Amino acid sequence: MEKVTDYFGCNVFGDSAMKERLPKKTYDAFKKMVDNGEELDPQVAEAVANAMKDWAIEHGATHYTHWFQPMTGYTAEKQDSFITPAPEGKALMDFSGKELIKGEPDASSFPSGGLRNTFEARGYTTWDTTSPAFLKDDGAGPILYIPTAFCSYTGEVLDKKTPLLRSMEAISNQAVRVLRLLGDKTVKKVDCSIGPEQEYFIISKDNYAKREDLVFTGRTLFGAMPPKGEEMDDHYLGTIPERIQKFMKEVNEELWKLGVYAKTQHNEVAPGQHEIAVIFETANIATDHNQLVMDILKRVAEHHDLECLLAEKPFAGLSGSGKHDNWSLVTDYGKNLLNPGKRPHENLQFLLFLSAVIRAVDLHSPLLRLSAAVPGNDHRLGANEAPPAIISVFLGEQLNDILEQISEKGAATSSLEASWLKVGAAALPALKRDTTDRNRTSPFAFTGNKFEFRMLGSSSSIAGANTILNTIVAESLSDFADELEQASSEAANGIERAAIIEKTVLNIVKKNYEDHKRIIFDGNAYSEEWKAEAAKRGLPNVKTMVDAIPYRVEKDTVEMFKKFGVYTEVELNSRVTIDYDNYCKAIGIEAKTMIEMVEKLYVPAIIKATKRLADDINAIRLAVPEARVTVQTKMLTEMSDLLAETYRRFESLRDLQAQALTIEKGPKRANFYKDSVCPEMEALRKPIDRLEIMVGKESWPVPSYADMLYEVSY
Ligand code: ADP
Ligand code: MG
Repeated sequence: MEKVTDYFGCNVFGDSAMKERLPKKTYDAFKKMVDNGEELDPQVAEAVANAMKDWAIEHGATHYTHWFQPMTGYTAEKQDSFITPAPEGKALMDFSGKELIKGEPDASSFPSGGLRNTFEARGYTTWDTTSPAFLKDDGAGPILYIPTAFCSYTGEVLDKKTPLLRSMEAISNQAVRVLRLLGDKTVKKVDCSIGPEQEYFIISKDNYAKREDLVFTGRTLFGAMPPKGEEMDDHYLGTIPERIQKFMKEVNEELWKLGVYAKTQHNEVAPGQHEIAVIFETANIATDHNQLVMDILKRVAEHHDLECLLAEKPFAGLSGSGKHDNWSLVTDYGKNLLNPGKRPHENLQFLLFLSAVIRAVDLHSPLLRLSAAVPGNDHRLGANEAPPAIISVFLGEQLNDILEQISEKGAATSSLEASWLKVGAAALPALKRDTTDRNRTSPFAFTGNKFEFRMLGSSSSIAGANTILNTIVAESLSDFADELEQASSEAANGIERAAIIEKTVLNIVKKNYEDHKRIIFDGNAYSEEWKAEAAKRGLPNVKTMVDAIPYRVEKDTVEMFKKFGVYTEVELNSRVTIDYDNYCKAIGIEAKTMIEMVEKLYVPAIIKATKRLADDINAIRLAVPEARVTVQTKMLTEMSDLLAETYRRFESLRDLQAQALTIEKGPKRANFYKDSVCPEMEALRKPIDRLEIMVGKESWPVPSYADMLYEVSY
């Protein structure tokens, strides 16, 4: 069998392939240009294009595609072959530097939020030199994928990658400024490192195909809870069933070939739920790779007659699926700026960066909430089932203690030490205990040497959240750098520089802790008490996507994005338009799916079942006139009542959906969907879920929760 280390990255035209295939001078010029963010020399581009094409063709590719990430949150591609006419009716396989650098897909059919009119079709894709090209084989032979950014003819950004790249530059510039002021003479660049954990559900393809709601909306809109959900905690980290294990094996192999460091896999809390985590990488590449993870999960599932569900809450009453965004900052020489080290109380640099994150999250928590807002995530966040939509930061005992010391005494003199843990059996080695316990309920948790933002929905691109996270932290770092610069210039007037910088850092940390302490919470963030406490502290609780959308264009926010060159005001407004539009369309499709399922599947099945019951009652009465048939009559009455309720709700939902379309697009329509259509959908679901049990398995037209969740998983 082939060794993983032999085939890892074999489908990537990365550093080693380039080194091997490009003349040293060209390779060096390309590397230098990428590392320093310099403009691309056309000759270098030509050479890279040629080498890339030869490599792809040798691996069996006939086509290439500019791969981009429009504001749908998914990826898009238009494939072109390398075919070029040659004399005598022959063909050449050709690919130029120009074709590598620039593509021109029609931009008019992608969401642009008013940035483009349908008749203004031109859009451009440009090669993202920081993310390597790769070969992806979807069963019909490999195709060369070139990661690109996407903009309109007029230069407005139409994708998720460009703002992310801009935000990475912003945070790098500000972090470097701060580090220089702290005396770091070598740092040139700071990267933001991201390790996403991806949750998903697996059910059989067969059951999936029978559920219109899953096919059209990604989640079940009906379905009675089985007697057993996740209350026994027997699925989380349980033994992975053979069928799933085989699926995971293939997923890993595909990802490894694509140079994705797939690392951890396990069963999640709900039956049928699983997780895959990859090792962290630079934000941009991590984002591309997370798109590939989602793509490969879906595709490989097909090979095993399975379906992978990426929706945030495919099954009501069970845990939803999120995506944990592990985030940190690393210098170009490999130092993790959020690593507290052994004596964090003396690590002023760490404390300063920590303060920047705390401040950023407190100042912009609604914006972070917005970064996790997709319609599907509304069923996970702030709905009746945990977690809530309130953002708080978990720091843990050790850091809280240090910040308290600084707040009280102006400096910290000690760090709580890690202790040894003896479990009382000689056979078991003593363990070094972490300085801080974990907290699974915190939406924004410090986890040793990084922050873990846990609000993201499982289906979302991680680009949006990291763009926001980078920008808000860049803003705090920039303010800190201003303060340090000021202090440093005073130092030039005679006072000793190092001492004054140290004093200023401590002041910043102290002031920030006092100003933003309200965002720090180490308790159970899923509890009712926390909701009350958070309200008392004045922390925003932005329950739905519709409520979150306006935060993108608040005055200060627009200023911040402008200041750091991440979004223009026009680009921000376009995203607001898209958000409202996406929300309305998503809920509209759910409503229409419910209407169709009720009329086409459920009502006929229920009518049949009631008729059968009525026939039975008549038959019994005919045979035994004195029989009372109490149970059957009672059931028939209840079923008839539920049928009437169903029909009433069905008609009402149909009317509301029609009415929604008459309302002005934007916030008005979105709020109507949220306040009128969504509750009616919930109300329609109730009688159907009860009837599912009463009508019985053989006569029910779609697979039940139990069918879907327990077939593959147990
Ligand atoms: P847990 O379930 O405890 O959160 P996992 O191993 O599932 O742990 O995931 C942790 C994630 O954090 C991995 O993707 C890992 O690569 C990532 N990670 C570790 N260190 C960093 C870092 N410095 N920056 C960003 N992500 C990191
Ligand atoms: Mg985690």
